[in-house]
Formats: sequence, structure tokens, C-alpha cells
Amino acid sequence: MNNLENLVSTRELQAIDARHHIHPFTDTAYLNKVGAKVIVRGDGIFLFDNEGNKYLDAMSGLWCVNIGYGRHELAEVAQKQMSNLAYYNTFFGTTHPPAIRLSEKLASLTPPNLNKVFFCSSGSEANDTNIRLVRHYWSSLGKPDKNIILSRKNAYHGSSMGSASLGGMHSMHVQGGMPIPDILHVNQPYWYGEAGELSEEEFGRTRAKELEEKICSIGVDRIAAFIAEPIQGAGGVIIPPKSYWPEVSRICKEYGVLLIADEVICGFGRTGKWFGSDSFKIQPDLMTVAKGLSSGYQPIGGSIVSDKIASVLEDFGGEFCHGYTYSGHPVAAAVALENLRVIEKEGLITKVEKDTGPYLASRWQELSQHPMVGQARVFGMLGALELSPDPDSRASFEAPEGTVGLITREICIDNGLIMRHVGDKMIISPPLMISREQIDSLINLAWLSLEKSHQEIVSRGLMKIGERRAE
Ligand code: PMP
Repeated sequence: MNNLENLVSTRELQAIDARHHIHPFTDTAYLNKVGAKVIVRGDGIFLFDNEGNKYLDAMSGLWCVNIGYGRHELAEVAQKQMSNLAYYNTFFGTTHPPAIRLSEKLASLTPPNLNKVFFCSSGSEANDTNIRLVRHYWSSLGKPDKNIILSRKNAYHGSSMGSASLGGMHSMHVQGGMPIPDILHVNQPYWYGEAGELSEEEFGRTRAKELEEKICSIGVDRIAAFIAEPIQGAGGVIIPPKSYWPEVSRICKEYGVLLIADEVICGFGRTGKWFGSDSFKIQPDLMTVAKGLSSGYQPIGGSIVSDKIASVLEDFGGEFCHGYTYSGHPVAAAVALENLRVIEKEGLITKVEKDTGPYLASRWQELSQHPMVGQARVFGMLGALELSPDPDSRASFEAPEGTVGLITREICIDNGLIMRHVGDKMIISPPLMISREQIDSLINLAWLSLEKSHQEIVSRGLMKIGERRAE
């Protein structure tokens, strides 16, 4: 057991961290001034810091700890696999039981035509793999120019050059010469923020039509694939209107564009089905998985492909010159298998679909009564609050986007609740094993935090109306 916290004070740990550790998605100068929170333990839906403070982790880490923290079953499997075969690769004609069994298991869970998986260690690597796979697929069919991948503004698909290019985050693109060539973006189905007077139904169809227009204007002989998250996560839990996915699916089929469903957040129960594709009746040609595949207990991801793609690559592709040292890592694969066993044994997905998901939806809706909340939306174990100084008009704050969100996030943490902010949206993605009583605690803490945040925002003179969205 690592009792580092007993040996060194938080302040010392923070100082070492500030000296030597570069944090992801962090303004290091600011963090070094305030000091990083040192998290030392997790149990169920709770985290504990080095000072003994307890937090209800409504984000499941980074959307990944689906079965909750502290599951000894997974630790035991890891220990056994490490003792037996800690590492071997799957290059050059070798394999091992954990990779074999996990690929078989994934084929049984995914839609019937998706039966083969390429393993890697993260969602970013899996999406880079997807870029390679779809381009290699069309090349193998004698269409090397059919190489453009369409994605969406405000999508998140990872942080490597390829996957961040697929993503539609402007702040990321400007820092690294992205997007890389032949990746283009269309608008997102963000009804609350971008629909104006259109109904959800009309708006969903309008945004799907933009995809069709883009494909037609560039030419089908150039478009390899379209990638999208069933529900956008990091973009702010953007739940598409019901009319969106059926149209997008029809368009991709009709124009011969491969559809990649990025299931990194939606997969493994978060939407109340095994995959977001099941919830929205999407029939993808490729699926990106990571996060909930191992509940974050080991880094593992994968790209799961349809029989059509697999057979073209096998028949015409020759060697696929792509792979990672840790593709199908035996410990990660064994732990992922155990995680899937726990999800099934405990009926976590049915629980989300039939019990805790609807319960969370009804309780979360209560937060829309708060004077600073413009919309409260939920799908399965994903939720968002749109903060607004004038909920009726869905106005944004006059202060720069994210100012109020950040203040609210910090107040949540002070109150023992981990919610994340995306601009002025507050988002949650709790562990799938959260109970009804724990959902009550989450809602109580969220309301309390909104109250305190509201007071703070009023006292700082920030309740000023900026742009109105629905006059
Ligand atoms: N796709 C989606 C939809 C994601 O949310 C993320 C991570 N938040 C990724 C891909 C990238 O995964 P990773 O951080 O494991 O590379």
C-alpha cells in the first residue's frame, strides 16, 4: 500500500508536482500558484484527497470509472496476469489469451456486423487508427483519393495530431498546426445553443442536411468517412435531437461514406445500452472504444470494424503498417475482461436504463428551477446544466464564456462535488453503479453549489446579460 500521504505533507507534494510535472489541459503557471489537489484514494463514487477531504465524483474520473473505484476483483486479475505474462506483443505472428478473449467478448457485445478489433491504449490512438484504417480501406479498393474525413465542430476525439484534427476544438487546433490535411468539419446538433427559432425536430434535420450538402459539394469520390460521438461529451454533453441520427445514418449509407461512431464516452453502459449506437439505432462501420472498456483501471482502447472493412483489408490490403507496443496489452486486456464481467454480473446497464437513469433524469430536471439554469438535460448517466443570467431567453453571460462555469466548478469542489465545466455548462457523468440515495446527495450538493455560486456571481456583478439566444 502506498502511504506517501503519510510521509509527506500536501504542500511538499504540491511543490514537487509544480517543479516536475506538466499537467494535461492545464494552465501550469496558474496551477503552480494554487497547488494541485492531491488525490490519494477512491472508493465507489467517492474520492479522497491528501487532507482527508471526501468528494462525490460526478465525473467518473474522466468519464471512465463506470464500475466505481476500489474494485478488488480487477486488482486481483491484474496481479495474476502480471505474474503470469506481464507483457508480450501481438506483432509478428503472436497473440495471447487475454487479447483473444477480449476480442471475442467485444464481438459479442457490439452490433452483429462488427467482429474484429484493433487494440491500442487510448481513445486518441484508436481514432488515429481509424484515420489509417479508413484511408487504407479505400486505397485497397483502388480509391486513394477518397481520403477526406468529415467531423463536427466542437467534437472531441482525442489529443494526438490525428485525433485532435478529427476533433473540432479551435483552441486545440491553433496550438499545433491542426487540422492535418483532408479533415473537414460541419456544424454540431447543439439545439439549445445554436437552433434559434427552430424546433428540435427541424434543427436535427437541418444539421444533418449540412452534412449531406458538404458531401455533395466536395464530391462522394473524395469523402472517406464521417466520425461522430453519439452524444458529444467534452463539447458539453450535447444530446442530439431525435431527428438527427436517422438522417445522418441514411446520408452516410446513401453516399457510401463510412460511419465511425466514437463510443469512447457513450460505450459500455453510459447511455443505458451497451453502446450509444444501440441507444440511437446507429449502424456504424467502425466504433472507437476506450475509457469504460476497463473502467479506467488500465489504459486500453480499440477500433472495432465491420465485416465489410475487415474482409477488404484482408483480401486486398496486404500488411497494415500500423501498431503500438501496447496493442492488446495482456494486463490491460485481462482487466478489461473482468470489468465487462462485473458490468454484466451486476446488471449495471439495465440499472441505468430502467432505474437510476430515469431517476437521475427526474431529479436533474429539478435543477432547471434554479434562477441561473437555462436548461437541465440528461441521457443515461450523462447530464448538463446550461448556466444563464436569464434562463427564459437562454442568454449567455456578458463575462467571457467560462467565467461563471469556472467559479461554479470551484464552488462545487469546495462543497465536495466534482462536476466539470465546459464554458458555462456544468456537466456530469457519474459511475454507473451510483445508487438512488447517492443521486439524491449529488442533486443536493449541486443545488447547494448553484446557490452559493449564484450569490458569488451576483456579488461580483456578473449576472449581466450578454447575447440572447431566443428573443
Ligand atoms: N473520443 C472521445 C469521445 C473522448 O471523449 C475522448 C477522451 N475524452 C477521446 C476520444 C480520447 O481518449 P483518450 O483521452 O483516451 O485518448
